[in-house]
Amino acid sequence: MERIFFQPGPTTLPKEVLSRAKAEWDDFEETGLNIMEHSHRGKSYETVHDQAKERLKRLMDIPETHDVLFLQGGASLQFAMVPMNLLESGKKAKYALTGSWSEKAYKEASKIGQCEIAISGKDTQYRTMPSMDYQASDEDAYLHITSNNTIYGTQWPDLNIFSHPNLVADMSSDILSRAINVSDYALIYAGAQKNLGPSGVTAVIIRKDLLHENEKLPNILSYHIHAKNNSLYNTPPVYSIYLLNLVLQWVEEQGGVAEMEERSTKKAKTIYDVIDASSGFYKGYASLESRSLMNITFTLENSELEQQFINECEISGIFGLKGHRSVGGFRASIYNSVPLESCEKLAKFMVQFQEKYG
Ligand code: PMP
Repeated sequence: MERIFFQPGPTTLPKEVLSRAKAEWDDFEETGLNIMEHSHRGKSYETVHDQAKERLKRLMDIPETHDVLFLQGGASLQFAMVPMNLLESGKKAKYALTGSWSEKAYKEASKIGQCEIAISGKDTQYRTMPSMDYQASDEDAYLHITSNNTIYGTQWPDLNIFSHPNLVADMSSDILSRAINVSDYALIYAGAQKNLGPSGVTAVIIRKDLLHENEKLPNILSYHIHAKNNSLYNTPPVYSIYLLNLVLQWVEEQGGVAEMEERSTKKAKTIYDVIDASSGFYKGYASLESRSLMNITFTLENSELEQQFINECEISGIFGLKGHRSVGGFRASIYNSVPLESCEKLAKFMVQFQEKYG
């Protein structure tokens, strides 16, 4: 039986990417070595590294004003690196709280300098994105947002509402799923393990004027040092970047970000339509206007059926749906690598489950 997967991350990689990695497993471009056995300073790896960087620039239309870095430590390290590098003394970092990850980002930054909550959706249990009634002020070092809230299944539907001279965005769970205007951002970061590839590498897109030398900062935590060394200050996660490059190539071959955006809208609709037509048998967690196109969170009206739902999913070959412990219920994560057919199968399963138990 074919199995389909909806886990929140790490997630599946496109089949074409795994096949290519398998074909090159013990002989990368007739070198007799796997790419991960190559020196990170050698020609073979250098080509992969530069290709990955150029591909991301092309796919996201990253202007000359911005640089691309490949770092380690996950998006979680960026919670600390952003304020370490961008929060000057005398200034304040402002945070939009829209879920657990933005709370974590805010708490980490508070250990480093002065921070304030600009807007918050906490009073709706993060079901709804707060209204953007915030004006940038001279005291702001930056405004930090989380474009998609992986746990609660909410997403800013329109990122153009933010206009801040130093807008910083955690795009870990929706990068490359919709077109954005990179020039609107001072910095964008994303752990790779959802839409970019495997875990182990984090993409950082930073406006070049922010790359200041800072003698007090350890080198490994300095954007300036990483940029100056083309992300080769220390040994990079060679295999993760190799796979990231293959995933980016796959996105290009599929038609780029515009195609991913169209697919995401269609895929999400397939499942939300079932929830909305279920007369309350399924309940969406996020409010309608804040629904994520990447993580679809829902519960069952009759919570006693939850285990049955998971059991029957697994019998039908459907995996990875258990919701995060803080929200409960279910979460279908439908990142770029999840095909429309998988969403259609899940939708069909949900309809049949309701027919049986509703
Ligand atoms: N931000 C968001 C929006 C996330 O979804 C995650 C992980 N799921 C993180 C940050 C943390 O990422 P990492 O585990 O790579 O540190």
